[in-house]
Amino acid sequence: MESMSSGGQNEFREGLREELASVAASLRAYLEWQQDTGATGIPRRPRGAAPVPIPGPGPAPVPETGSNAARPSPPSPPLTHPAAAPPMPAPAPDPEPMPVSARHAPIDPAFAQAPPPPPAPVAAPAPAAAPVSVRAPVVTGPPRPLPVIAAEVVSCTKCELAKTRTNTVFSRGNPEAKLCFVGEAPGADEDAQGIPFVGRAGQLLDRMIQAMGLDPEKDVYVCNIIKCRPPGNRKPEPEETDACIPYLHEQIAVVDPKVIVALGNTAVGTLLNTKLGITKVRGSWKLYRGKIPVMPTYHPSYLLRPSAQQGEAKKQAWDDLQAVMKELGLPPKRA
Ligand code: URA
Ligand code: SF4
Repeated sequence: MESMSSGGQNEFREGLREELASVAASLRAYLEWQQDTGATGIPRRPRGAAPVPIPGPGPAPVPETGSNAARPSPPSPPLTHPAAAPPMPAPAPDPEPMPVSARHAPIDPAFAQAPPPPPAPVAAPAPAAAPVSVRAPVVTGPPRPLPVIAAEVVSCTKCELAKTRTNTVFSRGNPEAKLCFVGEAPGADEDAQGIPFVGRAGQLLDRMIQAMGLDPEKDVYVCNIIKCRPPGNRKPEPEETDACIPYLHEQIAVVDPKVIVALGNTAVGTLLNTKLGITKVRGSWKLYRGKIPVMPTYHPSYLLRPSAQQGEAKKQAWDDLQAVMKELGLPPKRA
């Protein structure tokens, strides 16, 4: 057999190099997508199932676009703040400065790891969703546009709460915002209007946002762990949270906020995969899926409830929000 001419060898090497570069690019796109969705590991084939088909020649690796593009976390430019910020009803303590910014904070190692993948795939990709790459093993697509996710939620019947809801409750505020608030589940007012945090707790939340110097419509994105009201405002059952949480993961992947504020036990426990109570974890930075800084704090409903701790809790919640402002590069405010 004749050996290859040196020109032929060069061509062969060049081809191999291109092939390797393409595989590396596919892998990178896939890993970035995993990081965004929190899915980890290489998807396992269902037992006995045929190998994941490798799509034929098709679109190139999906480039990340818009606010979801991969970025190296430069210091956040400050958000815009409206001139007049109504005072917060909470006492006005001299805020204790957070010693370090979230990105450099010694984040509790228990929370620094990306949690295991959610029980169900993030969501079936819309038919139009292109495979991540022609070679990467694909079981989930890139996050879908928010209106597509919201439209699926509107007709969702994945859990029992579908039977008793009046409206599904998806989000309010600005999907481009750097700051995202996550609550538990809609209450009666939210169920009636189909908008999160519009009742008493929501009004307090808005006052807190305004006290930070932010506009509740323009500067924040507000959503919940659960999209349908649990009857009687009971706590969501684990099966309900498991059924609903993929929507929130996908929402967060699209919004890609710089900071998440987790309001109360349900939001903190679910986002951070912890059973630790809010009084233990509030006030210290954690990471959502190893990536987005999370500030756990009290739920506004708790702050509204008269108790011996109410004054102190409001003061602590304000401290927590001051830490968030610092992280976002916002000037400190007096509540
Ligand atoms: N409480 C929540 O957790 N979410 C809402 O939307 C309203 C009240
Ligand atoms: Fe679907 Fe979530 Fe509503 Fe359950 S709570 S029906 S999972 S949208």
